[in-house]
Amino acid sequence: MAIPRLRHAVRTLFEVPAALRRLSRACSTFHAFTDVLRLPKRQMTKLVFPLRELERQLTPDSRLDLHVKIFDPSLEDISKAEAVFTATSRNRISYLSSAVRLDHAPDLPSPEVCFIGRSNVGKSSLIKALFSLAPEVEVRVSKKPGHTKKMNFFKVGKYFTLVDMPGYGYRAPEDFVDMVETYLKERRNLMRTFLLVDSVVGIQKTDSIAIEMCEEFALPYVMVLTKIDKSSKGHLLKQVLQIQKFVDRETQGCFPQLFPVSSVTYSGIHLLRCFIANITGNLD
Ligand code: GDP
Repeated sequence: MAIPRLRHAVRTLFEVPAALRRLSRACSTFHAFTDVLRLPKRQMTKLVFPLRELERQLTPDSRLDLHVKIFDPSLEDISKAEAVFTATSRNRISYLSSAVRLDHAPDLPSPEVCFIGRSNVGKSSLIKALFSLAPEVEVRVSKKPGHTKKMNFFKVGKYFTLVDMPGYGYRAPEDFVDMVETYLKERRNLMRTFLLVDSVVGIQKTDSIAIEMCEEFALPYVMVLTKIDKSSKGHLLKQVLQIQKFVDRETQGCFPQLFPVSSVTYSGIHLLRCFIANITGNLD
């Protein structure tokens, strides 16, 4: 009796990774926008414009609350933006260097965007998803407690620089806050800060510190809602509406349209690439 049960348990152990492998294979085909364009229209819209899909669940008069159309590029523009993120011999995308102080940061003339968020918000996964068309790019993760937290610089051809800021959190050392503050305040070519918020739990106390920083320095920033595949539609809609209300009422510098993404399903990733290409002046 015990043996069949054991066999069943062993089989289940192997079935889960197989299912995950299938999901990952299915999702990996959506790295490139050409594959997304082959999807049926409804599925394609859901993947490319996740906010529109959420908007459909609202009553017509509350739809305006979501500001879905402030950044509303054509599919052609999204395709164009993809070239910026695709590594070729003429468009080298690579990790450049790391720095713990602003005066150690590379001095580049190209526009810069930075990604900031508390530890575990899904920042490395998002950067990996954005760079999935440049698979040789290594997104370094240093998560060991006590490890030096650094700013990591990535050069995206001649187009722009992407900076992965160290994850903040409850244990953030003071010199880390100094590093982030100095960077945000003094980096001259910083075009936009992408502030990541976990859509499952919404804005947390530690997120408020980063929001206050951006507000205090009058930085233009954008709220990216991560891990949208993890919640039910109802829970996600509730969180998104709550965050949207916060952005509308409590912020000055935050871009009014939210960017929900999933680094697992690639939902929202193509739109975010297009937004980055646009604000760094690379979509004309
Ligand atoms: P970081 O500390 O902000 O760099 O976060 P990571 O990218 O390392 O992600 C933290 C955890 O969340 C990891 O276990 C990831 O696999 C998971 N994660 C990140 N993004 C997503 C997502 O879009 N969907 C799901 N389901 N999990 C995610």
